Amino acid sequence: MLSYQHLYHAGNLADVHKHALLSAALDYMTRKDKPLSYLETHAGRGLYDLAGPEALKTGEAAAGITRALAEQWFAPDHPYLRHLAEVRDRFGPAAYPGSPLIAALALRPGDAMQLAELHPAEHAALTEAIEPWTGNVHRVSGFDMAFSRTPPEPKRGLLLCDPSFEVKEDYRAIPEFLGKVARKWNVGVLMLWYPILSSGLQLDMVIRLRQAFPDALSHEVRFPPARPGHGMVGSGMFVINPPWGLADEAARLSKRFARL
Ligand code: SAM
Repeated sequence: MLSYQHLYHAGNLADVHKHALLSAALDYMTRKDKPLSYLETHAGRGLYDLAGPEALKTGEAAAGITRALAEQWFAPDHPYLRHLAEVRDRFGPAAYPGSPLIAALALRPGDAMQLAELHPAEHAALTEAIEPWTGNVHRVSGFDMAFSRTPPEPKRGLLLCDPSFEVKEDYRAIPEFLGKVARKWNVGVLMLWYPILSSGLQLDMVIRLRQAFPDALSHEVRFPPARPGHGMVGSGMFVINPPWGLADEAARLSKRFARL
């Protein structure tokens, strides 16, 4: 039974890292006048309330996006800030977009979106959140969805894989999973998020990914743990076929996170 709920963590420093890179990648990719597909294996609920009891309980958003806004980490025209502003205009000042909403706001008519979310409550919330846009929401394992729907139509596109890593087997299985998807869809931009843990549990997976995909963008940022003794001390994004310009955005984020 899945117990992870992103409600407690939405808008934290890992989300700032992941969502800034995702927004930048989609911004670069939508500049070309050619349709694209967006696929997401672990979509979450799409829309979060940073004034809700779950976000307030952990305080992770306060140390994340709220701090980033107060300290002006991003230029006002950065696509991440534009999508955040659009969501707050529509849903109120404490709203926060998950990756499916970021993608929905970046995509254009003619682009396609396929989202997988396995948790029943998260799936129901996502179906409601994505309703104003055109997105297909599937209650299936995201790994199965990615196999069955790649290569997608349109063939240009991006897949985000953002597991909660509740299932420790994910660390072992993901290099093989991405290898298979990359073979089926060799032009796809494949983005993986992973936690950097004080235990180093992610290390073998990252080494295997770097060996298999030497040209990928492998970007990690470090930050103080959310609570004393909390195991997550950073955030990683591994991007196969990174769009032009994404390495510059990653370098900019490195400088910003290094000041924490
Ligand atoms: N990508 C989201 C974002 O950035 O806004 C956050 C996703 S959260 C880290 C991971 C989600 O994956 C959880 O909502 C969990 O219920 C879901 N999940 C876990 N295993 C899954 C699987 N095999 N297939 C699809 N969803 C899964």
